[in-house]
Amino acid sequence: MRKPVIAIDGYSSTGKSSISKAIASKLGLIHMDTGALYRGITYFALRHCLNNRKEIDMPCLLNNLEKIQLEFRNEDNDLILYLNDKNISAEIREPQISEYVSIIARQPEVRDFLLEKQRSAADEGGIIMDGRDIGTVVLPAADYKFFLTASVDERTKRRYLELKQLGIQTDKLAVKQNLVVRDKIDSERETSPLMKAADAVVIDNTELNKEETIALILSYIKHF
Ligand code: C5P
Repeated sequence: MRKPVIAIDGYSSTGKSSISKAIASKLGLIHMDTGALYRGITYFALRHCLNNRKEIDMPCLLNNLEKIQLEFRNEDNDLILYLNDKNISAEIREPQISEYVSIIARQPEVRDFLLEKQRSAADEGGIIMDGRDIGTVVLPAADYKFFLTASVDERTKRRYLELKQLGIQTDKLAVKQNLVVRDKIDSERETSPLMKAADAVVIDNTELNKEETIALILSYIKHF
């Protein structure tokens, strides 16, 4: 029997990735964190296409997209992101990447470049993919679609703790500002903006912890 395709979209720091990862391991699905792909491109841009004013030189990036080879490798059941054979899974969580990623993700050429990679990963079914435009653009025919949201203060608290656990120094106000700015750019861009698919189930997990959110999502998924 074909395993399901599940799309999880929503605002920054609603727990999409860690929740998707847990559901994938429970249901025996592959998990793809599509935000990591946009972060990987941002990592490349910051190294190779930054001008003297510390701005991204967008033509440089767009002309060099073909030089970017992003690949998830399965290491101990964790999908580790490699850029041109270098493990960049820790680096892509740095605040500097979070600062620039939405500006890069709004470029239609960047989105096009990543679209096929994401779609083909779902060809065989058995995948849970999290991002911003999965239910609307990447996998509009997904079997299940969820849209996660939570209050800004709760999301700030979660992101702050997550960064602290990764050993990354920052302050709450900076974290909050980054979430708000990213959500705004992501929601207002012309190409595949962050929005709920018409047929997605909305889950506000402000008052739910990770396990409760997982249980709620699983309650919608029929046995397969
Ligand atoms: O999920 P994460 O917070 O790591 O995503 C980082 C950024 O990547 C988002 O703020 C958004 O700009 C971009 N993104 C996107 N479409 C996706 C996934 C992420 O535009 N499907």
